[in-house]
Amino acid sequence: MIIIPFNKPPKTGNEIKYVTEAINSGHISGDGNFTKRCQTWFEENLPCKKALLTSSCTHSLECSAILLDLKPGDEVIMPSYTFVSTANAFALRGAHIVFVDIRPDTMNINETLIEAAITERTKAIVPIHYAGVACEMDVIMSLAEKYNLTVIEDAAQGMTSTYKGKALGTIGHIGTYSFHETKNYTSAGEGGLLIINDSKYFERAEIIREKGTNRSQFFRGMVDKYSWVDIGSSYLMNDISAAYLWSQIRDIQIIRNNRMKTWLLYHKLLKPLADKNQIIQPTIPESCEHNAHMYYIKVENLKERSNLITHLKDQGILSVFHYVPLHSAKAGIEYGQFHDKDIFTTLESERLLRLPLYYGITTKEVEDVTQAIYSYFKKANNA
Ligand SMILES: *Cc1c(COP(=O)(O)O)cnc(C)c1O
Repeated sequence: MIIIPFNKPPKTGNEIKYVTEAINSGHISGDGNFTKRCQTWFEENLPCKKALLTSSCTHSLECSAILLDLKPGDEVIMPSYTFVSTANAFALRGAHIVFVDIRPDTMNINETLIEAAITERTKAIVPIHYAGVACEMDVIMSLAEKYNLTVIEDAAQGMTSTYKGKALGTIGHIGTYSFHETKNYTSAGEGGLLIINDSKYFERAEIIREKGTNRSQFFRGMVDKYSWVDIGSSYLMNDISAAYLWSQIRDIQIIRNNRMKTWLLYHKLLKPLADKNQIIQPTIPESCEHNAHMYYIKVENLKERSNLITHLKDQGILSVFHYVPLHSAKAGIEYGQFHDKDIFTTLESERLLRLPLYYGITTKEVEDVTQAIYSYFKKANNA
């Protein structure tokens, strides 16, 4: 049987060349030549004021949480429908996580419910741009201004997506990207980006990322020796990983166009099923340009999703779901709580199914996946 995997890390051809160059350069640890090239590229092209490569998006989020100077009991608002790292980074600093319900159309935090969840202890809002489709950032940023809060965009899935023309991750005070192999662009191994848009965080962000030392200032000749000046950790990306990422950045449009072609093909082939109300397709609000990070469908309920996953698997097609809502997980109960009612988070998360989508998936493979979905509904309708 032919297997169609759920994901394959992107590889466009020049990765080995740049990785070899990094190894031969004699500088393979953090902040080498390729790290500098990537960071400059992000600063010029997103654009943003400061871009720092890190060892993962999880670590970028941890840096952000340290930057906020959170005290135990301080509150951070985010959706419950997200990856654990979004919450964990802030729980690690002693913060209490306040989960707000999502919108069913985009699966993003419902911006109209945030204000009611703000208290005197609220320090930050962390919107997650699910599937690379932006949250309603204008509303979120004006709430942040009104209540003097910091906004950290978890844009792990959002590279090359925009909101009203602005790159995701460059709208809040801080933004984070992931280069994990399941994301659109990858570094070798793990990797992430910390985007600093508010200049008041520039200096400390560099220090936190460099084990709490002012080593970056030392290298710029601003201090004559470097020493321990703050808390921090080792959050640097090694230069071999950065070389791999550089290769992907050089082919940024090739990867984007290829994924978009696949996304649009799924969207077209599955539309008749949506017209017959058997599935729901993703919604892209007008203010958002997305990056084809994910193609998902929603089915009737949990039982139907399980049946469909099994049906696809029997034909060698691997589809997945994710995010058991954090407020219902063991640590989520301990470190956070859901504000108000969970109307959509659990319900919608149980209906969502992600289809195979990766750089280089063929038209035939996408047709096979959609055919298998059609055959499921044909069988189910006749039963
Ligand atoms: C992938 C992902 C992360 C974690 O990224 P890593 O680079 O694997 O640490 C965090 N948040 C969201 C929303 C993600 O999708």
